[in-house]
Amino acid sequence: MDVDEPLVLASDLDGTFLGGTNEQRSQFYAYLQQHRQRLVLMFVTGRNLDLVRQLYREPDFPQADYIIGDVGTTVTHGQTFKPLESVQTWIAQTWNDSAERVRSLLNNEPGLELQPITPQYRVSYYYNPDELQSQTLTRITQAGFDYILSADRFLDVMPKGIAKGATLLKTLESLHLAPEQTVVAGDTLNDRSLLETGLNGIVVGNAEPKLKEIARSLPNAYISPEPGAWGIWDGLKHHGRAF
Ligand SMILES: [Mg+2]
Repeated sequence: MDVDEPLVLASDLDGTFLGGTNEQRSQFYAYLQQHRQRLVLMFVTGRNLDLVRQLYREPDFPQADYIIGDVGTTVTHGQTFKPLESVQTWIAQTWNDSAERVRSLLNNEPGLELQPITPQYRVSYYYNPDELQSQTLTRITQAGFDYILSADRFLDVMPKGIAKGATLLKTLESLHLAPEQTVVAGDTLNDRSLLETGLNGIVVGNAEPKLKEIARSLPNAYISPEPGAWGIWDGLKHHGRAF
């Protein structure tokens, strides 16, 4: 690829971009800021936009160009938080206002507890790994949805075919950014779809063991021994994409 092309870094936040020691984070953030004009920064996170906005209060925190939030179900510009319409419309149409339907479908299923949030294009539960039934997961897919289990604690019911990875690919296409320019990074199972895009990938050292296990069979994925932000930096060097 052309070395003059900007790097597109699409990173998870918690445990990844926000992981590592304060010292490691501030050095990595300063490094990114120094090369900001050659970087397209995307956050790809389970967080909602309000929680991303809170991070921006920290003066040295690099602000993203685009944010894929809510585990892949919202896409906005990084500064204005306005939706990236072409991709957001695709998500909204796929979801088709199904929250109420999902909640009544899963009402009384064992081991599930609704999270106290009401995202627009998914339904989020806490789950108890000892109580969750495989029939519950089957009911979700048979009703025409996908689900994501993460960190032995979170279950998201998702619009079919939509996850962090699928939404990232749509976003790159919509912005005319080449996949070869892109590096993804993550630390938990909800980042699995990012690695499965086939894009150059980084699994940070503090990642959940299940994600590392999956990454071992993906040739595009590099498992860094370093945690969080430091692991991203190490991974960019590994992929030959450090500035
Ligand atoms: Mg994370």
